[in-house]
Amino acid sequence: MRNRILGGLFGVAVGDALGGTTEFMSEAEIRLEYGWLEEIIGGGVWELEAGEITDDTAMTIAVARGILQNPGDPIEAIGEHFLRWRATNPKDIGNIIRTVFDLYDGSWSKAARLAGVLLGGKTAGNGTLMRCLPIALAYKEAAIMEEVTKRQSEMTHEDPLATEACLIYNRIAKRLLQGDQLTPAIRAEISGTRYEELLLNGGAPASLPDGFVVHTMQWVIHHLLTAESFAEVVQRAANGGGDSDTIGAIAGGLAGLYWGYDGILPKYSDKILLRQELMELGDALLAVRERGH
Ligand SMILES: [Mg+2]
Repeated sequence: MRNRILGGLFGVAVGDALGGTTEFMSEAEIRLEYGWLEEIIGGGVWELEAGEITDDTAMTIAVARGILQNPGDPIEAIGEHFLRWRATNPKDIGNIIRTVFDLYDGSWSKAARLAGVLLGGKTAGNGTLMRCLPIALAYKEAAIMEEVTKRQSEMTHEDPLATEACLIYNRIAKRLLQGDQLTPAIRAEISGTRYEELLLNGGAPASLPDGFVVHTMQWVIHHLLTAESFAEVVQRAANGGGDSDTIGAIAGGLAGLYWGYDGILPKYSDKILLRQELMELGDALLAVRERGH
């Protein structure tokens, strides 16, 4: 279980750090500049240090810290950690989350609703999917896991498409934590949903790998269904461009759960600047999981 949980957290961070180099680039631009990117080298639009993570991992850590602060009712604690992160003045807050932060005055649901109005209803971004994995790591009871997953998404994204993606994602995570194989776990959770067609032929999604949560989820599922190793999953995400760091973080989280921390190449896990913090968080989430609450 520890190997899986650490694999999940490092999977998010590695996908983020590798994909951060190519965020917003097209596939053709990436080919021209990097060939096939497979090393964590930093740079890119955020001028990252090699091994530096972005908002995807930072918000995942905030969710984890909120859970650890108050496992019985983590939402407000998660919000405190979101605001703490915001106070560090990160360069890469996504548009929807930035809008919600600007509108927040003590009620996340009110801020999310107002942001929905201000953004013309366009709040189905991938910003809640990218951070929701710690919930599946900490809560083994399905009803609690689902309730917290739903509520954490609604804190910033009022669109049900975002909630739906988080629920499907964490249900797959739950299966992987129980030792299910990857493809059957995905198949069980996307059958009967809008993502079902991805099971048909393994072909790449017709959508762009952008920040719309449905597109992101399509690419995540595609990479997970067709890659044969953790490294292949995160490299594909990074080399696909677009919202590559977030797609890498989301796909990397499930890939890391499945292949385990042992299944992540040391050249990736050792490169993550926050690796000590992720280790400690993983152990603390495991303790919450084993204790129940
Ligand atoms: Mg990012």
